[in-house]
Amino acid sequence: MAGNPRKTRSELHPGPVRGYCFGGYDGGGHFFDEEPPAGVVCPACGSVLDDAWRPAAIALNTTKDVCSTYDNVTVVTERFVEACRAREVPGVTFHRFSGGRNRHYYFVDASRVLECDLRDRSRFGDRCAACGQHEYIVGGVPPWLQGSGPVPAGFSRTDVAFGSGRARRPLLIIDAQTAEYFDSLRFRGISLMPILESGEG
Ligand SMILES: [Zn+2]
Repeated sequence: MAGNPRKTRSELHPGPVRGYCFGGYDGGGHFFDEEPPAGVVCPACGSVLDDAWRPAAIALNTTKDVCSTYDNVTVVTERFVEACRAREVPGVTFHRFSGGRNRHYYFVDASRVLECDLRDRSRFGDRCAACGQHEYIVGGVPPWLQGSGPVPAGFSRTDVAFGSGRARRPLLIIDAQTAEYFDSLRFRGISLMPILESGEG
């Protein structure tokens, strides 16, 4: 990571940070490596219709603690999961899968939903005739959220899925204290982008 590692997040971002957009860098591999069962994605635009479906195995090529598949699904290691359990980080469930070469990883599932403020910062594709969703929504990273003040402790996700087709996914969000905890553990590959109050920046 760039910058002085001794600086805490609150020193790096002294303004009113509401939380952080949580993700990882490229880990290789696709969540939809194989064709999913009927009904999981829209056959016309590819938007994900069934968030609960997950593959049992996908081939990854990463040594990072946090990474993202090419189709924007966040993946973490057992080390990361254990750190969350040790701290009882709320709002998150982890789903184990095989990542090839005898390695296991986890998908991150945040159940708590935060509403985005999309005002004039996002671009939308046409509505898909088959599923009614926008074919793409871009410009939302890091997202702007409705309301004000800090996000809830632990993990949340956005109500909007950003991106296009099968790579359209909600964004994961964590609060500032959890971000500082993750910083202290120096997870490899982690990306944390500050979320500011709407109307700023
Ligand atoms: Zn569609």
